[in-house]
Amino acid sequence: MRWSERQLAMLREMGIPPFWPQARADAEPGAPVAVAEVAQVATVAQVAQLAERTPPPVERPGRPTAAPTAVPSGGAAAALASRGVAPAPAPVVTISQPLTLDWPALRQAVQACQACGLSAGRTQTVFGVGHEQAHWMLVGEAPGEQEDRQGEPFVGRAGQLLDRMLHAVGLTRSEAGPEQQVYIANVIKCRPPANRNPQPAEVAQCAPYLARQLALVQPRIVLAMGRFAAQTLLKTDAPIGRLRGQVHRLDSGVPVIVTYHPAYLLRNPADKALVWDDLCLAREVMAQSPM
Ligand code: SF4
Repeated sequence: MRWSERQLAMLREMGIPPFWPQARADAEPGAPVAVAEVAQVATVAQVAQLAERTPPPVERPGRPTAAPTAVPSGGAAAALASRGVAPAPAPVVTISQPLTLDWPALRQAVQACQACGLSAGRTQTVFGVGHEQAHWMLVGEAPGEQEDRQGEPFVGRAGQLLDRMLHAVGLTRSEAGPEQQVYIANVIKCRPPANRNPQPAEVAQCAPYLARQLALVQPRIVLAMGRFAAQTLLKTDAPIGRLRGQVHRLDSGVPVIVTYHPAYLLRNPADKALVWDDLCLAREVMAQSPM
């Protein structure tokens, strides 16, 4: 089947040459997807359980950290290091209860958090950005160097590619209504040293923040970007190649579509065509899901 001008325009937006082979032999990009056939209810993570629709925020926000002053972070740690003083290791404090904070309190809690050792090396936390009632929520992995510096997820070249991907399906990070403007958050809010993978204990510490963001946004669909985000949200160690092309669900019923991280696409541009398939699947799921 030939692609329409609109589909070709979207592919161009993503930087995908239209002559590239399609990843799914049985489906054209943009063709209707039989969601019921591909739907698979995945085992969900703690973050997904916590993401069920929750009651309105309570008036007394709490702080999840129990030792707020013990460890310098970011610039303070660097200043100590320049004087040859090694900062003390960050305390590990377990956030044991589902969070019920509202947006301002949640943001403050993340900014002050020292619940895991990543706090010691950060310049700043990277909370998340976007429409607080967005229909689409994107979940990435952890801040990289530029995100750590700027305090925003998906910046730099990967961020620019993400912008083009979003534009290709009528979405944006710029100010717009909740149907168009997405919300973006990472699994981990502080940059791991040398961009290493976050450790399970760090994920466990940080998970309640993402869970609360999911509960506050109440997205109609979640796009898990990259292996780490997908495996964390779906609590699986299955490779991303096996997780793509299916409709997973959080406990709340919110569909989750897995796709590649933009940073991966910069290294493997041929796989942009697969991401196009994922975005088409996500759009089809949205078209079939109730408002
Ligand atoms: S990564 Fe998460 S849990 Fe660890 S210090 Fe940062 S905000 Fe707190």
